[in-house]
Amino acid sequence: MKKHNYSAGPCILPQEVFEKVAQAVLNFNDSGLSILEISHRSKDFVAVMDEARALSLELLGLEGKGYQALFLQGGASMEFLRVPYNLLKENGKASYLDTGTWASGAIKEAKAFGETVVVASSKEENYNHIPKNFEVPSDADYFHCTSNNTIFGTQMKSFPTTNIPVVCDMSSDIFSRQLDFSKFDLIYAGAQKNMGPAGVTLVVVKEELLGKTGRNIPSILDYEKHIKAESMYNTPAVFAVYTSLLTMQWLKNQGGIPAIEKINEAKAKLLYDEIDRNPLFEGTAVKEDRSNMNATFLLKDESQTETFDKMWKEAGISGLPGHRSVGGYRASMYNALPLESVQVLVDVMKKLEVGS
Ligand code: PMP
Repeated sequence: MKKHNYSAGPCILPQEVFEKVAQAVLNFNDSGLSILEISHRSKDFVAVMDEARALSLELLGLEGKGYQALFLQGGASMEFLRVPYNLLKENGKASYLDTGTWASGAIKEAKAFGETVVVASSKEENYNHIPKNFEVPSDADYFHCTSNNTIFGTQMKSFPTTNIPVVCDMSSDIFSRQLDFSKFDLIYAGAQKNMGPAGVTLVVVKEELLGKTGRNIPSILDYEKHIKAESMYNTPAVFAVYTSLLTMQWLKNQGGIPAIEKINEAKAKLLYDEIDRNPLFEGTAVKEDRSNMNATFLLKDESQTETFDKMWKEAGISGLPGHRSVGGYRASMYNALPLESVQVLVDVMKKLEVGS
């Protein structure tokens, strides 16, 4: 039986994508070859890469606006490093918002390159909210933020208006909600939540931003080199790019980001309403900053842990424990998780209340 998969990533993808990609492993495009054995330079795969790059910009509403899309490797963590390499000028300054473990990971890398200002941090409150009313220095080379904090279950609902380039790690909420993406100059996201399997990272960058640091950038880290090579500077993650393309096609067929946003809002409302109503549970993130992707919550009485864990496992739920650094529970409700799966979890929470 298919599980209700609440895993934070790698995570659930649409069933239709699993079926199509399984077929492509056996026989890709009726070529008599598996997707796993074709050359990345083959006509068929070049077409996949071209479509994946174009479709990612189309879904974000960024086509024809001076942006380039790349499918790179090294995970979002590699972009923690590539961003300062490509944008932080020698003797320049970077500014970062610290909203969680991944944001602070990005800050750590930037510090190795130059002056890095942390404009605000919610670390003291165990990252239970998004800092507000901070100032972004107008003389910094860029401002970096993390739109959704996968571990702590918080999500930025608004972004600062600033005259400097805005860089955003959207790993855990890309393609999940409508934003004016043209307000961002560089967006990156590890695929393994809303876009596809692990192994590839989407980077969307405004081309005019590049080539201005005065640094000698190693080729593999240089966005301009990847753009010039049309995302084939080195062998791309063929399987992961293809699966990402299928997932993006699925999203487009659903009606794109506006349609999936409505479903994501309904899923999040269903679960948060139960967390707030049920006296046995409490949410860990400040309400106004709650993430629609990752809902983090606790059992008020820890002695019920064993019973609750047994109940949700018996209901066919998988991947509910919180990140190992924070404990509790985390329900990740990415694009492909159906509303019915959220109902199953809510029913288990109600059942625990009735039985206790
Ligand atoms: N940023 C965010 C918001 C994440 O959730 C993660 C991983 N879950 C990362 C960065 C790191 O991604 P990766 O493991 O692909 O390097």
